Amino acid sequence: MLNQIENKKVTLGQVVYKRDDQQGWVLARVVGVSENYVTLELEDGQRIKQKSSTLLLRSEHSDLINVSNLTELTPINEATVLECLHQRFSYNQFYTLAGSTVVAINPFKDVDELYTMHKICKYYEHKNKEELEPHVYLVADKAYSCMKRELGCVNQSIIVSGESGAGKTVSAKHLLRYLTIVSTPEDAIDLNNSVPASVIERRVLDSNPLLEAFGNAATPRNDNSSRFGKFIQLQFHRNGNILGGIIQTYLLEKTRVVHQRPGENNFHIFYQLLALQKEPQIPDFLGPIKEEIQASRLECSLISKDENHSLLTTLNAMSEIGITPASQVAVFQTLLAILHLTTLKFLPQRDEESSGYSEDQDLSPAQLETVRAKEESARLLGVSPQNLHYSLLNRSIVSGDDSKSSRRSVFYKPVMVAEAESRRDCLAMLLYSKLFDWLVTFINHQIKVEYFDHNIGLLDIYGFESFEENSLEQLCINYANERLQQHYVMHFLHDLQMEYESEGIAWKCVPYTDNKLCVDALDGSTGVFGVLNEDVYLNRRSVDHQVCNRIIEACSNSQLVRKPHFGTYGNQFLITHFAGDVLYTVKDAVTKNKDNIPPELISLLHSSSNSFVLQLFSDYGSPSLETKASRVVKSHRKKTVLSSFKNSLDSLLAILSQSDVHYVRCIKPNTMSRQGEFDRAFVLQQLQACGTIQAVDICRRGYPAKMTYQDFARRYQVFTRMKDCLGKLFSSQSHSKTCRISVDFNEKNLSTFKGSFFLIVEEHLSKMQRTCS
Ligand code: ADP
Ligand code: MG
Repeated sequence: MLNQIENKKVTLGQVVYKRDDQQGWVLARVVGVSENYVTLELEDGQRIKQKSSTLLLRSEHSDLINVSNLTELTPINEATVLECLHQRFSYNQFYTLAGSTVVAINPFKDVDELYTMHKICKYYEHKNKEELEPHVYLVADKAYSCMKRELGCVNQSIIVSGESGAGKTVSAKHLLRYLTIVSTPEDAIDLNNSVPASVIERRVLDSNPLLEAFGNAATPRNDNSSRFGKFIQLQFHRNGNILGGIIQTYLLEKTRVVHQRPGENNFHIFYQLLALQKEPQIPDFLGPIKEEIQASRLECSLISKDENHSLLTTLNAMSEIGITPASQVAVFQTLLAILHLTTLKFLPQRDEESSGYSEDQDLSPAQLETVRAKEESARLLGVSPQNLHYSLLNRSIVSGDDSKSSRRSVFYKPVMVAEAESRRDCLAMLLYSKLFDWLVTFINHQIKVEYFDHNIGLLDIYGFESFEENSLEQLCINYANERLQQHYVMHFLHDLQMEYESEGIAWKCVPYTDNKLCVDALDGSTGVFGVLNEDVYLNRRSVDHQVCNRIIEACSNSQLVRKPHFGTYGNQFLITHFAGDVLYTVKDAVTKNKDNIPPELISLLHSSSNSFVLQLFSDYGSPSLETKASRVVKSHRKKTVLSSFKNSLDSLLAILSQSDVHYVRCIKPNTMSRQGEFDRAFVLQQLQACGTIQAVDICRRGYPAKMTYQDFARRYQVFTRMKDCLGKLFSSQSHSKTCRISVDFNEKNLSTFKGSFFLIVEEHLSKMQRTCS
């Protein structure tokens, strides 16, 4: 822990911070000092004894509200950081800098005044950005100006991180809006109109509500929780004008289409679809869809909410982005077909002879209970109802030897209720995920350009999740967060320290929590992913508790993956993530990881007479019926959900590594999403988990600005002639090709160092000349 108090430093009467489960850290007065313990008096008069090493010093600042960069705190420790953020939050200061990272605390209330066009202009035009209040616009501006001035890596990335509901998506939206607005050619900006004029920008911005309608859902933690990861790369001309953008999405949580946890919803778009029937303002071409929904007597359990407003936003965005009326109708038809599919119910077949259900119902073939919904969905999908019926209730089996294919024969075996249900779910999820992919491809087609000079990437990926029951989806989500945290630790903390050392800067390493061990335990060759993938590759019939045991065994060297102390199911394992412990269940994990699509369902969709449905599945080659042997060979080659996800994260991190990365750390002030409430213990837990405090400390002790001598000269030449501009203390290490500049924001120190600035500038300039010549 940073800045623990040494015994000798504690004096009688001193006020210090003491750890508290509810409040994070609380103030207490020292009323006694002995060799081993300090006696403290708490606010309620209670006296307790503590070791002085467990205490923290309080801040020297009397007005923490005005401390806009946490690096200014003296001392920097968990308690002072927490106190500062708390006080600022109480005064509606939701943004605070932590070095160059912006810490954004979710206000959970409208603060529109923070995001006006005038604010954008102010952050863009202001000459001395350090004078401005912290804001996400500051991060966007920095990324944009670094790109425009072609500093560093030129390409930039902004990573927005935080728990679910911490405000990532909203922050990303503000960043996107800032970047698109400032990069509009000047004559296209109209201050009275918040919508920028350029079509490409409008499309980039319209992609947001559209992807949210299809990819977000209400959860207990967030009414508008993103159920997919999104990385948008804005494409720019070297003059800074925006040219386009390209969106990459990650792992849509498609199981939500067929199953929602208690208190959770399906994707927003389904409720908007149901709202279509009541909305008077829809365009004429959607009239038939409206009647269709009214007439179809849909039996789904979704309760149509008051979604009219969002429906109109979605429809508007669809039209703005260029989705034709015919395609819009096709999209809604497909959604309606999916809803009908989800209502299909199966029963075990009746045993005719005994005119009842067969004795062991689990072994009876399934029969369809709901005929109408089947016919409706078949019609909407352009497939024959008989074919749909047959594909859901029968599995193809190929007998014979591959090498003598002429002797192969195919026959169909009726399936049991559980398998019929899983086929139904598989079809619904497949259709939805393909629809989502189609939407992303369409948007990209409308916004991306082939030729551009630079880009700025914006990453808004699902936050760390821990529910009562956590499955493969949470494993992927939390793995993504581990990888990003590792990137943060490696690139920000580790690299910085290494760089200081290599540049010969006198430097005392700050300890930080490295999560490499956890990443290795997850994706290493003998880690959790390895075990789950092996079952798919070997086409093993997996038994939950055996898989679970194998996972625990494989990770036995790691303290981070283990059997939980509680629970007797035998199919659960616990992982200690950087952000906390999560209990995972292996139930269905192998099946989900396999993501097997029965070939009969693909054949069914290929037989569709609906051109939109055919288009959705155009990249699926005709399925060949498989023998058991060919299935094993194929599964070796098959990509599992985990391996594909790891690959896509590898590519993402490769892009991030080749760009200058900026961070926005979103913090959720309380678990109830209430405005004005600051749960100190909960906030502290998030600060600890993401390494903010160590980062602040390293920034403070280090040299936050780095540039080449050429850049330094270009930028600061002017100062050599403008003595009045001296306002900061600069110090440097000069024996490398770059110079490091430490800016001490503590104004008190400035007078002492007046004059030294010019010496440093001149020293750098002459060095530069020597290096360049
Ligand atoms: P995340 O993406 O981290 O899960 P969101 O960005 O969806 O979280 O934010 C959750 C909710 O918090 C939003 O729906 C909104 O109500 C509120 N919120 C987040 N950021 C802000 C903000 N800057 N101003 C006002 N409300 C916000
Ligand atoms: Mg989100």
